[in-house]
Amino acid sequence: MHRTGPLSRRHLLQQLLVGVPLAAAVTTAAAADAPLLAADSPEARQLGYVEDAKAATGAAPGNHCGDCALYQGSAGSTQGPCQLFAGKQVKAAGWCRSWAPQM
Ligand code: SF4
Repeated sequence: MHRTGPLSRRHLLQQLLVGVPLAAAVTTAAAADAPLLAADSPEARQLGYVEDAKAATGAAPGNHCGDCALYQGSAGSTQGPCQLFAGKQVKAAGWCRSWAPQM
């Protein structure tokens, strides 16, 4: 293969193969370090977020953040990111009115 400079196709692919997983790992680590969403914050109150789904009015029995389609925490985690609350984590046991079933 003919390499004409630092941006050959092979070099570019190698950089992408290294860079994409690294970027994902950095994003995941940053999300894991995100602060916990305060249940009394305006954004949480707007969606009726509570840290314990059992205390929520309107939550169907068994529904909680940990089994919501928008929850991004790992399986078995006690808290994790939610697609609705960027830069924050929610409790896996929590709930809000935007709860959606996983497909
Ligand atoms: S959208 Fe889902 S994961 Fe996010 S706070 Fe509401 S119930 Fe929890």
